[in-house]
Amino acid sequence: MSKPIKDEFTKLKISRQRRYQLRMRRDKRCIICGTPITRGLMCLEHMIQARERQRKRLGLKRRHRNARTYRLQRKEA
Ligand SMILES: [Zn+2]
Repeated sequence: MSKPIKDEFTKLKISRQRRYQLRMRRDKRCIICGTPITRGLMCLEHMIQARERQRKRLGLKRRHRNARTYRLQRKEA
C-alpha cells in the first residue's frame, strides 16, 4: 500500500471526491479526469459535458455560439 497523500486538504472535513477536486484545481488539472489543462476547471471534453447537462436541466433553447467551449470545439474539429 502506498502512503496517504498529506497536503493542505488532508485535514479538511470534506468528502474524498471534494478533496480530489481541490487537488486537481490546485495542480491545474481537469477536476473530473485529471488531464492537465491551461485554464478553467475542466478539460474541453468535460466542459462540453457540463454545458450540455446544464442546458438540459435549464431547458435552454438558444446556443451562445461564441462561448468558449464552442470556439474550442470548432478549433479542435
Ligand atoms: Zn476531463
